[in-house]
Amino acid sequence: MPAVIAREKLKTKKILNVILDTKEPPVARCRLLSKGIEPYHRLYLDNDNIEGDKACLACGNCVDSCPVLRKEPERLVKTEQRTSFALESTVGEDCEQCYSCTLACPQVDVNIKDYIVDEKVIDVIPQSKKITALDNYFMVIAALIFGIVIGAFLAM
Ligand code: SF4
Ligand code: SF4
Repeated sequence: MPAVIAREKLKTKKILNVILDTKEPPVARCRLLSKGIEPYHRLYLDNDNIEGDKACLACGNCVDSCPVLRKEPERLVKTEQRTSFALESTVGEDCEQCYSCTLACPQVDVNIKDYIVDEKVIDVIPQSKKITALDNYFMVIAALIFGIVIGAFLAM
């Protein structure tokens, strides 16, 4: 059965806000703010000892998830690396602060990701104009019926 990871209080909110409010790829610094010894981190087993680390795994998840690089893949010509360093050197201050890289990184703590989703990710799902228009149309009919019922009730 997979382990359920409980939400724990974030103790690094202040420094995390500084990192997330800076227009630069945040994933490496979020990784370094993480504990590095959670079940989802890279762990080393040596007899009875378990050790973890906060290093980049070079998995490339952050590179693949970055909208700046998806829009301009030619930036990747600079390097063949798929690391947070590659993200920093190809995106730099053009970072759009979407935080996809941090959410995609297996070495970043879950409570940091929770904080980003709860406090930083802007709700950008656009409303369908058709549905909004239909909503308004039904609201007018509902208000009309409600008015007639109230009017009939008062007239009695
Ligand atoms: S994924 Fe988003 S936050 Fe990360 S570097 Fe790219 S634009 Fe910046
Ligand atoms: S997503 Fe992968 S490549 Fe990017 S910083 Fe995390 S471990 Fe490194």
